[in-house]
Amino acid sequence: MSGNAPLHCPYCGDENLWPHGQKHGEWECRACRRAFAVKYLGILSPTTTNAPGREART
Ligand SMILES: [Zn+2]
Repeated sequence: MSGNAPLHCPYCGDENLWPHGQKHGEWECRACRRAFAVKYLGILSPTTTNAPGREART
């Protein structure tokens, strides 16, 4: 395992992903030739993980 490696390209869905440059978390898709970064933003708090529409407040 090498950290936060994506399994599929978020743009075309291909699995042809390779590290991009020297920076950690940067990837390139050789199927659609896009480069992108995967960034860890933090842990969700339990109150933000409710399913949409589950606890609708009106
Ligand atoms: Zn792609």
